[in-house]
Amino acid sequence: MVRPLIAGNWKMNGLSGDREIISQIAKGLEALEDVADCLICPPATLISKSADAASGTRLKVGAQDCHTAVSGAHTGDISAEMIADLGATHIIVGHSERRADHGESNEIVAAKAEAVFRAGLVPIICIGETLGEREAGKTIEVVSSQLAGSIPASAFGKTFVVAYEPVWAIGTGKVASVEQVEEVHNKIREILGERFPGQADETPILYGGSMKPGNAGELLAVGNVDGGLIGGASLKADDFLAIYAAC
Ligand code: 13P
Repeated sequence: MVRPLIAGNWKMNGLSGDREIISQIAKGLEALEDVADCLICPPATLISKSADAASGTRLKVGAQDCHTAVSGAHTGDISAEMIADLGATHIIVGHSERRADHGESNEIVAAKAEAVFRAGLVPIICIGETLGEREAGKTIEVVSSQLAGSIPASAFGKTFVVAYEPVWAIGTGKVASVEQVEEVHNKIREILGERFPGQADETPILYGGSMKPGNAGELLAVGNVDGGLIGGASLKADDFLAIYAAC
């Protein structure tokens, strides 16, 4: 059985005072049944403070991106090893905003996932179609090829997470329907089963895109949905805890 994961992605939000939210989430978790792993990925500037605030609690802390190399002449970049050194456990790779803003291809995403494994952390590998691709009836084709290209061969036998985030549902308030989510998640599980036999049933497949307290129960109950990757609603402790409680 797969253990669900409720993960927050703060994106480029948060100043030092916002580590209070980390403490509030960590404290709030104590009152909730331990049904899922819980993770917040703050901006890189807050990983260290957040990991300190979450230390000794059920809340884990992750990062939103990393470089492929261990170290070297890469101004402004951060390696998976540096992130591990701060006490993080997971790194998001291939978020659609990185694919769009920084031209990250499936090959780059796979190399980043490999870097995450190398550092002993868990990659959350993101995939998802644009509105144009969905309207052209290409959702399954796009998601399948992103999945094939973004998960490195070295993932065999390792712990990783897949996040399905339809680009048109991110930050728009438009949520994929239960039927749309179910179709894609079933396909992802099938593809994982073919490529990583014996491992697919233990790999969490998260849904992301305008998940809120009001729709989380319905989305998290869909077959093959093993948790959520939450943007906006992870910036408020009460909202994020309400989503966790719906798991
Ligand atoms: P929103 O929940 O704000 O739509 O963001 C989803 C997301 O991109 C999480 O990675």
